Amino acid sequence: MSWGVDNLPYGVFSCPGQQPRVGVRYGDKVLDLAAALHDEVFAAPSLNPFMARGRAAWHDTRALIQNKLTTDRSVTERHLISLDQVRLHLPFEVADYVDFYCSIDHASNIGRIFRPGSEPLQPNWRHLPVGYHGRAGTVVVSGTPVKRPQGQLGAGVFGPCEKLDVEAELGFVVGVPTSMGSPAGAFEDHVFGVTLVNDWSARDIQAWEYVPLGPFLAKSFATSVSPWVTPLEALPRIPGREQSPEPAGYLRRQGDWGLDIALEILLNGEVVSRPPYSAMYWTPDQMLAHLTVNGASLRTGDLFASGTISGPEQGQRGSLIELTWNGDEPIKLPGGETRTFLQDGDTVTIRATAAGLSLGEVSGTVG
Ligand code: MN
Repeated sequence: MSWGVDNLPYGVFSCPGQQPRVGVRYGDKVLDLAAALHDEVFAAPSLNPFMARGRAAWHDTRALIQNKLTTDRSVTERHLISLDQVRLHLPFEVADYVDFYCSIDHASNIGRIFRPGSEPLQPNWRHLPVGYHGRAGTVVVSGTPVKRPQGQLGAGVFGPCEKLDVEAELGFVVGVPTSMGSPAGAFEDHVFGVTLVNDWSARDIQAWEYVPLGPFLAKSFATSVSPWVTPLEALPRIPGREQSPEPAGYLRRQGDWGLDIALEILLNGEVVSRPPYSAMYWTPDQMLAHLTVNGASLRTGDLFASGTISGPEQGQRGSLIELTWNGDEPIKLPGGETRTFLQDGDTVTIRATAAGLSLGEVSGTVG
């Protein structure tokens, strides 16, 4: 079952008139952890205090919950609350937010669109996972409406974005911090779990502003995440794909951190793309090693996202700019409508599964 004891993602929920607190999803219910485990860390309105406890506590707690749900069911039953009776909140307090660019197919497509006639990948791309620091304060939970940004669209042109886009991504949530000057250790000692990310992007603002320092206002107006954080321990892992040239020593992989996650992008309820995470070039352990190799510290609640997930096929592209080739090839929706970029009222949902486990969904409506 997709929300069974092998899954058990963590989130923050509230019942009417009560403070938000931590729970895990089981079936179509949420287990009230503060009540079921008698541990005050779960009475917090975010996962951060629990995530800061570290890997051994994450493992022990998961085993305890699995045990309660399977062998201690009659006692646990009264702490299971139907999802239709709760509101879901942003599951963790976002500390710093970083976005990478780890899909070789996405980076190549964007290179072809923005720099036609030249080499699609920049010379650095195969040597390091390219990234930028984003804006933590505008990371919002699934369901939050997204207001179309306005800004400079070119020299002397100011107005509402006309090329509003999505980016289907996976986000990695940091539990255990590092101190400044000390690179991160083993990936699984720091990273608690994963969430789905929609990195809303204003392509016209981006094309004008990004030279030479990278994305700024084109990305900072909203980033949506799913309400559930799937623990790393629940995720099936596969070997990462082959890399050439061999990366620098500090980027040597720490194990099999490829992830076999199947994503879907839905536009107004219709699937428009199926990006496979297994096609990603740089693995999450390499992202973390790169993020901290210069001594930059990690904080509990840091979120680093993979960058747009695109596969090699046309129907596997993780953004509208790729699916419509910058608007030149509109996609057809079942009702006969077409789309290049998003219109007001459009709803985009990104959902994912990993070997039968659901990672839930992240959704947002442009308004
Ligand atoms: Mn992105």
